[in-house]
Amino acid sequence: MTEKQETFAERLARAMAAKGYKQADLIRIAGDRGMKLGKSQVSQYANGKTVPRRPVGEVLADVLGVPAAWLMEGAGEIEPETVSRGTADGVSRPASASQGAGGAAPAAGAHADASATPIIDRTEPRSDTMREIKKSTKLDNVLYDVRGPVVEEAERMEEAGARILKLNIGNPAPFDFRAPEEMVFDMSRQLAECEGYSSAKGLFSARKAIMQYAQLKHIQGVDIDDVYTGNGVSELINLSMLALLDNGDEVLVPSPDYPLWTACVTLAGGTPLHYVCDEQAEWYPDMDDIRKKITSRTKALVIINPNNPTGSLYPREVLQELVDIAREHDLIIFSDEIYDRIVMDGLEHISIASMAPDVFCVTFSGLSKSHMVAGYRIGWMVLSGDKARARDYILGVNMLCNMRMCSNVPAQSIVQTALGGHQSVQSYIVPGGRVYEQREYVYNALNDIPGVTAVKPKAGFYIFPKLDVKKFNITDDEKFALDLLHEKRLLVVHGGGFNWKKPDHFRVVYLPRIEVLGDAMRDLGDFLDHYRQA
Ligand code: PLP
Repeated sequence: MTEKQETFAERLARAMAAKGYKQADLIRIAGDRGMKLGKSQVSQYANGKTVPRRPVGEVLADVLGVPAAWLMEGAGEIEPETVSRGTADGVSRPASASQGAGGAAPAAGAHADASATPIIDRTEPRSDTMREIKKSTKLDNVLYDVRGPVVEEAERMEEAGARILKLNIGNPAPFDFRAPEEMVFDMSRQLAECEGYSSAKGLFSARKAIMQYAQLKHIQGVDIDDVYTGNGVSELINLSMLALLDNGDEVLVPSPDYPLWTACVTLAGGTPLHYVCDEQAEWYPDMDDIRKKITSRTKALVIINPNNPTGSLYPREVLQELVDIAREHDLIIFSDEIYDRIVMDGLEHISIASMAPDVFCVTFSGLSKSHMVAGYRIGWMVLSGDKARARDYILGVNMLCNMRMCSNVPAQSIVQTALGGHQSVQSYIVPGGRVYEQREYVYNALNDIPGVTAVKPKAGFYIFPKLDVKKFNITDDEKFALDLLHEKRLLVVHGGGFNWKKPDHFRVVYLPRIEVLGDAMRDLGDFLDHYRQA
């Protein structure tokens, strides 16, 4: 005869005695760990009237410091929601015979008599045994405030009927920037051929056009295989970091930054090291600060050029210093150049990869901004430099690309149209053009507000003004953004949203027409006229 196996209740009693725990202790400690247990529920486990569901058993085992497998062995293999109700004779019974016959048969050892095994009763309310559904701890340090709590408050206000002017997100379409007609037409013509997946990296025609664009930017040695399309640059930022980083690897990221970079480094397990960009020096990266932050775990240097949120454009000398640092410390360069076609004042954008043919570089761009089609979701990245050394990383990138099948194919189908021929964005960025004139307006209007100063952006459509924190007594920039929202229905993003450490900046998107920007700047001026943070 085999020895009778201990029941769940017996094992629970033994483990509780070993710890000196009472039922109340179990309830309390399990509660601390996110598992809400009821008194009657625990007492039913203790007196053998029922056994817990496996997730509950696992928490109990954890609380008691015993292996879950051992504790739950005593519960048999009763699956899953085993919240049972004692029957009139005080013994739980199987819910149906089929459970005994199938894979979910109660173990004979749990209750020697099959008729005395606990039942699955799906009518019992289970809310007191349900564990809270929590987000992954991988997200604990991830910040993405461009669409964060202040935006949520704005949405709440809109739902309650308020009209909010949103100067928080670089989305051209709501401000009457339309996609070039030719692109819309070409996409509609090709739509029927875009029903299937493309190859994981993208359509040949799109990648060929991107490769030629890289050649025009003097990036050497780019083959069609080095070009990857993505659902916006956003997807590729995430993918490129996921493929690279082990826990604790470090990546140099600018402060202020486009916060997706910091978020994706963090999500991939890496540690972002923020290097300061210097407002006194046209917001160029502070090279000494970069050098100071490099350690043996630093794998890469991110640059955002032209920069969001500052509108800074890096000249050749600045890029040269960055290349020198990358070379010296064996860093990969990730260069986000999504605004490279929105450069004003006759200045030229230089791709850093063109100056570093020996350094492994990943250069990002896309159509969201230059072609006003942020909703189409099309971006790309181009690998250049010492690819042999990056062979293993490239395998990782390819694997992640394959896993997401491909990027949006209709949007890929118009990359060739977009990058070839006339570039309609040109008309926006010269004197008389909307982006240019709006920049002029907002730059002057902000600097006219007492207590506000701003460096003139050279590119993109953002400006990152500074607040005189002493004058306004500002210690919390998110509160400033919330107060402005509540009082003036004006939505901006506080500097902290861009990983800027002091509470003295905010970002304005200058996409709205001048009339609208005029109202916004007047409202901001009125607000700051009296604002003193409590
Ligand atoms: N990089 C920068 C610097 C951006 O400002 C943005 C969007 O605002 C992106 C990447 C994301 O662009 P996409 O629409 O291609 O995902």
